[in-house]
Formats: sequence, C-alpha cells, structure tokens
Amino acid sequence: MIDKRHIDALSGILGNKGVVTRPEDLEAYETGARYDRGRTSLVLRPATTEEVSAAVAYCVTNGIALIPQSGNTGLVSGSTPDQSGDEAVLSLDRLTKRFELDLDNRSVRLDAGFRLSDLNRRLEEHGLFFPIDLGADPRIGGMIATNTGGSRFLKYGDVRRNTLGLKVVLADEDGTVLDLQCDLRKNNTGVDWKQIFVGTSGAFGIVTECVLNLERLPQQTATALLVPASGAHVLPLLRAMEERLGAYLSAFEGMSKNAVKAAFAHVPSLKNPFQGGNVPDYVILAEISRTWAPRDGEQSLDAVLESALAEIWEMEEAPLADAFVGPPHEIWALRHALSEGVKHLGKLIAFDVSFRRGDIMAFCDHMKAEMPAKFPDVTVCDFGHIGDGGVHFNLVVPKDSDLLNDETFESRLREWVFAVAVEEYHGSFSAEHAIGRRNQAYYDIYTPDKLKDMAAGLKTLTSPGKLGSVRFG
Ligand SMILES: Cc1cc2nc3c(=O)[nH]c(=O)nc-3n(C[C@H](O)[C@H](O)[C@H](O)COP(=O)(O)OP(=O)(O)OC[C@H]3O[C@@H](n4cnc5c(N)ncnc54)[C@H](O)[C@@H]3O)c2cc1C
Repeated sequence: MIDKRHIDALSGILGNKGVVTRPEDLEAYETGARYDRGRTSLVLRPATTEEVSAAVAYCVTNGIALIPQSGNTGLVSGSTPDQSGDEAVLSLDRLTKRFELDLDNRSVRLDAGFRLSDLNRRLEEHGLFFPIDLGADPRIGGMIATNTGGSRFLKYGDVRRNTLGLKVVLADEDGTVLDLQCDLRKNNTGVDWKQIFVGTSGAFGIVTECVLNLERLPQQTATALLVPASGAHVLPLLRAMEERLGAYLSAFEGMSKNAVKAAFAHVPSLKNPFQGGNVPDYVILAEISRTWAPRDGEQSLDAVLESALAEIWEMEEAPLADAFVGPPHEIWALRHALSEGVKHLGKLIAFDVSFRRGDIMAFCDHMKAEMPAKFPDVTVCDFGHIGDGGVHFNLVVPKDSDLLNDETFESRLREWVFAVAVEEYHGSFSAEHAIGRRNQAYYDIYTPDKLKDMAAGLKTLTSPGKLGSVRFG
C-alpha cells in the first residue's frame, strides 16, 4: 500500500484530477487488455511534461515504484501493476494538448497521450496518416515504448522507423526532462539517444512528447486472396510480387487453414470465396495501394494487380494455385476476424515470434509435425505478417482437454516453442509486443550476460528510480 501522506503530497503536485484512489476508478488501470490483473492504490494522471517531471521526482525521492501506462492494450503484462499493491500507475492518458502539424515536413509534434485513432482522425483532412495500423487503439507513448508494428510493416516499417524525436522524463530525483525532439530526418551528430527509449517498455524513461513521420493516405487500394501452390511456394510468391509491384505492395499476410476456418465459423457473414467453401491449407492476403486518385487513361489498381498475378501464373513452377481479387473491406474483414475466431475454439496460448522470412513456413511445418507427439490435443492456428517475418503462432487447447489439468503443461509448451524458435531457427521470442512480466523469463534466458550488464549500466545512467515492469539488467 502507498502511504496516505504520499498521496496527499502528490495531490498537491497534480491537483485532484491528477490523482485517482477510489477502488472503483482504479480497476480499469489494474486490468490489462487480455491477460493480467494487478493491484494498486494510486494512479497518477499528470497533464503536462512538467507535471510528469514533478510527480516522478517526488516518487523517486520517496522510493515509490511507477508503472507507465498509455492505452493499456499491451499484450505482455507491461502496463499494469503487479500483485503487491506497492506500485503506482503513471497514466499518460491526459497528455493530449500539444498537436503541431508541419505539412511541409510531413511530420507532427504532439503529446504522447494521443490515441492513434484521434491522431489519424486529425490527419485525415490533410490526406495524411501515421502508418502503423493494428487491431487495437493504443496511445502514441505506448506505441513508442513497445515499438509497435502493424499489418503494413512491409511498406512503412515500425514505430522506430517513423519516430523523428522524443521528449522523455527520466526517473531520477530531479525528474530530469530530456529534450530529444528533433524534426529532422537526416541527423548524424553523435549517439541517437532517442532509440534507447523505443521498444524498451518504459524502463529507461517516460515518453511525454514526440515528433512523428507521417505518410500520404492511400487513395486507391486493391486486394486479393492468394492460394500458394504449396507452403514452400509462399516465399517465391512474395518475391515474385515484390519484383512486379515494388513499392505498391503494402501487405502480404499469411493465414493458415485452421485460423481461416475458425474465422468463418465465428463470423458467418464473412464471404467464403473458395470453391465449395473448402479452405486451402494456406491463404495469403495481398494488398497494393497508391496515394493518388484514379486518373483518366491510367490502368486501374485492380487491373495492375490482376496483370501481375497473370504474369506470376505464367512463371515456370508457378508459385500460385488460385487467386480471388475482391473489395478490400471484404478481404480485410477475414484477416481481422482471425484473432476472435481462434479465441473461440478453446484456450488460446499465443506466441508473437519472428524469423527470417524464408524460415517462417519451415518453423510452422516443423511445429505442426512434432505437435501431435509432444502435445496431443493442441491445434496450431497460425497467421502472421509474412512480409516482415512475424508470426502469431497461436495454439488452441479444447476447454475439456486433460492437458489443462496439468500444472506444468503451459510452461513446458512455452519452453519448447521458444527453444525451437530461438535456438534452432534463430528467431525472436518477441517480435512486436516488446518485453513485460509475461515474457521476462525468456529475456533472462536468451539475452547474453554482456548485454544485460550494458542494459543495467544504461538503467543506472538514465532512470535509477523504480520504473516500469521490466528488468533488462
Ligand atoms: C486486439 C489487439 C491487437 C493488437 N495488434 C498488434 C499488432 O498488430 N502489432 C503490435 O505491435 N501490437 C499489437 N497489439 C499490442 C499493443 O496494442 C501494442 O503493444 C501497443 O502499441 C501498446 O500501446 P499502449 O498505448 O496500449 O501501451 P500500454 O499497453 O499502456 O503500455 C505498453 C508498455 O509501454 C510502457 N509505456 C506505456 N506508455 C509509456 C510512455 N509514455 N513512456 C514509457 N513507457 C510507456 C508500459 O509500461 C508498458 O510496458 C495488439 C493488442 C490488442 C489488444
């Protein structure tokens, strides 16, 4: 529990709006998007960088642990307090005042508490957007702290690639404000310090403001569901598409038969284009886009896609068995229904792993071949971002399976999957969700001691106070 005298002092610093203590108001800050439920007796809600600095200085001086929280959509138990009740949540949800758009520079300088949807709503009238798109609605500071990747990573990259500058409050006794706000795309003047705060889950400082790169909103989009000739043809198909469509290619998402069938079962209104309704072993969602409105005499984007597919069809050892060009909203509806569909099959155990692109299908095939002997009853329902090497390797266990009565089952399963992914395929055990309490143990196992020592040094240098749920050193 946090002492009442500290709560009173922090109310003096932040005002009544900036301090939450009523149990019924705390609950939303204690509960994560999917898994976790912690306990706290105090949520701080500063409204400016200066208030963040003053509150952090007080907490560090008085030994109060802080967990930064933004949209609270993270999936690795990073944004919620632990069970002790001793950690205070530092919510950045009131940091939403500053918004300075620079159309010439195609960038925006803004407070880190903006929701992604609010940012994009304001940008839409200028034909711009922040190009990281996902099925949740996080806040920008949380996206920076997790280095979020979206479905169009293949074209636009991740948050790291689109962050030009940051303002950060360090967890030291002064609540030092570090101004790394730079609007420049080219700047080689020494250490690029902002990068240590991107994707490091708030361990080294609290992001309060930032400068982001913006992109032109696509004006034309064409999509298709592609059936590769076999699993081994998925990468040749991607390479053939990249060769013919270049920068037009904006998504290349893979979906296994089990995941697609689960989506169709869960959302009966989805259109099933496959002959006789028979879902193929693997399906690709491909999207191409361009940023100008259709022009007279210009080939339509659907026609561009169709002619590229026709060329691929004619290749020797064609990697394509079938293709369905259709309206983007219908085709993306299937992709967006996968997560919920899979969840309804039973208990979901999800892995966010990544590989060199050429190893994705080999990894999935390897696991599908070994799964029945190792863990009977477990069904693999994988899907992912083939274009950037990321896989949502989802495993589903029927709710009545005996495996769920075995207390060691989940940890044995996780250890095996990560060992194969990291040690045999040299992949990553956290592709896009960063590190939190949920996967801390795997950071501890797979990170070399020298790197942990370096991270510990960085932590002492930047934020020696108790900040965040992760230990990198
Ligand atoms: C339905 C769904 C779909 C998703 N799809 C994707 C996807 O496609 N790609 C993907 O990458 N992720 C995805 N996610 C995960 C999640 O949305 C991202 O990790 C997200 O960007 C986190 O942002 P947030 O604002 O919710 O951060 P939070 O969950 O609040 O915090 C995440 C981490 O950042 C720290 N933090 C938060 N704010 C700050 C700050 N201002 N300064 C320093 N540290 C801070 C927290 O302590 C925590 O460790 C999905 C989640 C859901 C629920």
